[in-house]
Amino acid sequence: MRKMTTPTMMLLMLSIALALVLAAGCASNEPAATVPAARAPAEPEVEETAHTHMWIDADCQNPRTCADCGETEGTPTAHDFAGATCQEPAVCTQCGEADSETAAHEWRDANFQEPQICTVCGITEGVPLTPGLLSRGYALSELDSVHDFEVPTFQDRSVTTIGQLRVYDLEIIESNETHEAREGFEWRIAHLYLEFSDSNQQRYGHAIFYGTLDYYTPDIDSASGPGNHGSQTVNFYGNDYQSEWKFEVLREGPSGRAYVYEVVFSFLVPVGYDGAAIFIGNAGFINEGSPMPSTIILANEFDDSTMFFGLR
Ligand SMILES: [Zn+2]
Ligand SMILES: [Zn+2]
Ligand SMILES: [Zn+2]
Repeated sequence: MRKMTTPTMMLLMLSIALALVLAAGCASNEPAATVPAARAPAEPEVEETAHTHMWIDADCQNPRTCADCGETEGTPTAHDFAGATCQEPAVCTQCGEADSETAAHEWRDANFQEPQICTVCGITEGVPLTPGLLSRGYALSELDSVHDFEVPTFQDRSVTTIGQLRVYDLEIIESNETHEAREGFEWRIAHLYLEFSDSNQQRYGHAIFYGTLDYYTPDIDSASGPGNHGSQTVNFYGNDYQSEWKFEVLREGPSGRAYVYEVVFSFLVPVGYDGAAIFIGNAGFINEGSPMPSTIILANEFDDSTMFFGLR
């Protein structure tokens, strides 16, 4: 059982106590604590008429409260926060009060085109993944320029021949007579021209190989097996696509005292994808003593003579 005190009675008691304390202070030096009237009178009659509480459940604003007499029990519940994002704090579903902190960003992993990015607010952190070719220490050479391409000669590995190499005429098209269209894809086409004409080439010959690879995930095994066409998985903005590549040899053989290669490379890639690449290197390094590149070419067996060109 609880003692019940109505607000009115409480107020009355306080007034009396105050009056008595003031009176005591004025009248004498006797301490006010001796005044017995400051104590609440017993109220047995209230207990006898005690009602059955009509409890209203506690919420985040009020403890459990009797609808009739206002008696409370316990403490308010915690707020029921929901709906937080990295931009807006959660809001209590009961009272509407906002939480003090926002939620963490919802990060999507970095890919080759984008750094780590929050899928809610778009904020980015860090940098895109490093292209596989760069992380192996190789770089792309410039299109449309003539480069010296130096490789050991075929018959005497201690001397080199220097060819003039150019990859040029990059075009990006949806399709033409020899390149079939595919929804969401485009063809990237470029020409390669290589000419060896120095005396070492004339004396000892050369041994090179060339093929296609992906700039971001350079896996030569899958990109340039035997034959002049194939397919490869490429990753663009975090999604995998099946790309295709092919090349056509327009010319390969002696030309006067020189030896000439002219090849057209074509890649079918997702629209905007810039990872299609060509490599050309020293075949002797891969398959010592043989002019023919073998099928056991490993991506990590490029040597310093290998050059790379991106169709970008
Ligand atoms: Zn009550
Ligand atoms: Zn609340
Ligand atoms: Zn965010």
